[in-house]
Amino acid sequence: MTSLVVANATPIETDVLIIGAGPAGLFQVFELGLLGIKAHVVDTLQHPGGQCAELYPDKPIYDIPALPVCGAQELVDRLMKQIEPMHPEFHFGEEVSELQRQDDGRFRLRTSAGTVFLAKTVVIAAGLGSFQPRRLGVEGCDALEDRQVHYKVKSAANFHGQRLVIFGGGDSALDWVIDLNGKAKSIVHVHRRNEFRAAPASVARMRELVAAGRMEYVEGIASAIRTEDGRLTGVTIKRTDGQMQGFEADHLLAFFGLHPKLGPIAEWGFELDKKAIKVDTAKFQTSVPGIFAIGDINTYPGKKKLILSGFHEAALAAFAIAEHLNPAKKVHLQYTTTSPIMQKRLGVSE
Ligand code: FAD
Repeated sequence: MTSLVVANATPIETDVLIIGAGPAGLFQVFELGLLGIKAHVVDTLQHPGGQCAELYPDKPIYDIPALPVCGAQELVDRLMKQIEPMHPEFHFGEEVSELQRQDDGRFRLRTSAGTVFLAKTVVIAAGLGSFQPRRLGVEGCDALEDRQVHYKVKSAANFHGQRLVIFGGGDSALDWVIDLNGKAKSIVHVHRRNEFRAAPASVARMRELVAAGRMEYVEGIASAIRTEDGRLTGVTIKRTDGQMQGFEADHLLAFFGLHPKLGPIAEWGFELDKKAIKVDTAKFQTSVPGIFAIGDINTYPGKKKLILSGFHEAALAAFAIAEHLNPAKKVHLQYTTTSPIMQKRLGVSE
């Protein structure tokens, strides 16, 4: 851990830091790039796309201009392709947890991984908030989080030779049940109902392993945990037939998916309306000059939480950011069809 802090101790200086790599944050990169401004982008998720990628990647979207139908993940892939020439620097798997204004007018931001940024401007494109794992909701689990209660696997080797109880009916849960089988000392798989979101082949494999006596499967939910001297020793499952059943366990792994939570942004002092940040509609600037908010995270009269709205807001915010960074220089509107400088930035001309 020490090396991580040391490695990240030098702040990354940037003109713009974008919080959130959803569709709005990604298109912000593009609009800034057209004006010759580079950005760093931070997202709690390990990948770009925000709600599109996390909540409905396979669903079709029908209201993106000029694309009669576009898969949600496809839209993210297209945006990533479109912003390639702008060379954004991504920091995935990090939540921006602190934001402070400095005396020199810049903003100091810190992430959960210890990365520090000094940014001249900030764009909050945080959507409905940062995606967090749904937790077990059983008393005592919070204190054991990351030690014996886990919502993601950082190193599979930590679970070898251990007694595991794995919760969930999606692909993550099934993948780990199968992957850790034979490596863990024992595995109990717990899911609340007899329907799975995971791939049918994975469910079939899990059932084969149960039939072969290589693991147990229980339909139910966690009801309580047992601890000794602050260490987890077991878990009680309330089965769907109403029976209570206890299992010895060294680790609980729960994969219930992710949900967005406003998180630290709520504490940064912005004027909020129903968990959204108030902005003006000319610049999409917050009450703090130099901090902008676009996409689902903002609110103004008539706001509609649509991808289309985020795209429009990103375009206007880019012009406002250019003026903020260089107040003496007027930013003229140029067309990508005819502007040599924009075509150079797009990499389509010398
Ligand atoms: P998001 O997509 O929410 O992305 C925000 C990102 O910010 C997230 O990845 C989050 O992890 C990150 N973040 C937040 N806080 C932090 C922090 N502190 N540090 C680091 N990262 C942070 N819209 C349409 O226009 N058409 C549709 O057909 C449509 N269908 C939809 C279907 C479903 C099922 C859902 C749920 C939504 C749909 N929407 C649709 C809405 C659309 O997905 C949103 O309007 C859009 O995703 C908003 O984009 P965004 O970039 O503002 O935010």
